[in-house]
Amino acid sequence: LVRLKAVNKHFGSFQALTDINLDIPQGQVAIVIGPSGSGKSTLCRTINRLETIDDDGGYIEIDGEPLPLEGKPLARLRADVGMVFQSFNLFAHKSILENVTLGPIKVRGLKKAEAEKQAMELLDRVGVAHQAKKMPAQLSGGQQQRVAIARALAMKPKVLLFDEPTSALDPEMVQEVLDVMIGLAKEGMTMVVVTHEMGFARKAGDRLVFMADGKILEDTTPESFFTNPATDRAKDFLGKIL
Ligand code: ATP
Ligand code: MG
Repeated sequence: LVRLKAVNKHFGSFQALTDINLDIPQGQVAIVIGPSGSGKSTLCRTINRLETIDDDGGYIEIDGEPLPLEGKPLARLRADVGMVFQSFNLFAHKSILENVTLGPIKVRGLKKAEAEKQAMELLDRVGVAHQAKKMPAQLSGGQQQRVAIARALAMKPKVLLFDEPTSALDPEMVQEVLDVMIGLAKEGMTMVVVTHEMGFARKAGDRLVFMADGKILEDTTPESFFTNPATDRAKDFLGKIL
């Protein structure tokens, strides 16, 4: 469903991604971990085209279609790739309900009433339907992050990218967000999740991708990675976080 082939990414002379090859089938939950600066966020940002990749023959395909460079096809394809960030990124001056209806109305062309019905179902699913009329600042971090997930789901994405979705949360709110993500994984959502939540990685992950210095050093199962990392870089990294 998501395919990266020989992808490189430079920021000026600095190479942030080197020869990334990744093929994520429908329904897979791929966990991405690695030290700070290893290129995890950059990887996510290239997949939903927040960043361009080097024009050197490498490419990214979503559901068989190459990522277009600009224009309408880009907006449509971006709607297929949902993203949830570390810092919730809700629209601060819109209500919770509007945060979830805005995209479907503007990009998917839904009528307001339809969009609101769908939004309420999604907010209910992530457990914040009763907060629909509030503003983002009135919600806890965990609640805001669950709204961000509902907002991403409202676009009916083919794949959801999560970039450290729980690292800005107070510890007691982490699990409520992970539980929503575990539910999505069980329902067969294709997901790429940058996280250092090892329990989640083992429980929900089908695959574990370890990055360092902009390269994929290991691409295996969570079980095998945590019990028997193949590279010294991974052993070193695990030694620091476990
Ligand atoms: P962290 O765990 O800290 O979030 P990361 O693995 O997500 O790290 P990236 O944010 O992808 O790492 O950054 C990878 C490298 O690319 C870093 O060295 C970073 O400084 C560099 N980088 C990222 N974005 C830019 C940019 N817009 N301009 C220049 N350099 C950048
Ligand atoms: Mg990052």
